[in-house]
Amino acid sequence: MGTIYAIANQKGGVGKTTTAVNVAACIAEAGYETLLVDVDPQANATVGIGLPKDGEPSIYDVLLGDATVEEALKRTTIERLSVLPAHPDLAGASVELPRLPGSENRLRDALASVRDRFAFTLLDCPPSLGPLTVNALVAADRVIVPVQTEYFALEGLAGLLDTLALVQRELNPRLTVAGMLLTMHDARTNLARDVEREVREHFPALVFDTVIPRNVRISEAPSFGVPVIHHDPHSTGADAYFELAKEVAARG
Ligand code: ADP
Ligand code: MG
Repeated sequence: MGTIYAIANQKGGVGKTTTAVNVAACIAEAGYETLLVDVDPQANATVGIGLPKDGEPSIYDVLLGDATVEEALKRTTIERLSVLPAHPDLAGASVELPRLPGSENRLRDALASVRDRFAFTLLDCPPSLGPLTVNALVAADRVIVPVQTEYFALEGLAGLLDTLALVQRELNPRLTVAGMLLTMHDARTNLARDVEREVREHFPALVFDTVIPRNVRISEAPSFGVPVIHHDPHSTGADAYFELAKEVAARG
């Protein structure tokens, strides 16, 4: 049975999508059947891996019970990597989902039918703690929390950990934190180094050893619809995401 990771932080622009796409690609490259699930109506992960953002059926139809996961899965150009794509309609799911029976369990129940096929599943969450993120946290075994090493890094993290504890208590006792991931790190600045030290002191043993550097190759890759390991395999960004994938697999 595979392991399901949610990549979550209610802050936008901290590297959730970048981490979901690139860890998924590195794990597939390492030889594992991998599934990337785009849980964000912005569909950045879907587009970033080279798929159209308005293809149907999508995760939206799966959550509403109008399609099965098998029907909505798409292969990518990357061997062993499949995607459950998002669609702009998913924005409406935040309103529609709470009205449906078992609304928090819909993604978990849908993914149960493909759990045996994928060694690793990565869920790219939207920047909120609404119904879509709750569905991802109920479906997940482990959570990766990207944290940008910038001034307001710690703000909101305590609230996020409270939410994770609440979901664990009320909805999903399996859920654990895989780790916090420092992203877009610029080791030349004192601020970034201070923030790294502060986060590691605040959350000992919870922060991944691997730090993702700020790297232009990482930010260019989505416009080509490929992960950074294909855009520039020799970049510092590609190296870092490979290291992270190894650490995630080792910790799991
Ligand atoms: P989120 O999903 O949390 O909103 P994204 O992964 O979309 O965040 O990242 C926000 C922006 O920062 C995107 O334009 C992305 O390409 C860029 N970005 C993410 N990680 C890096 C990095 N390590 N170096 C440079 N740019 C990055
Ligand atoms: Mg995103």
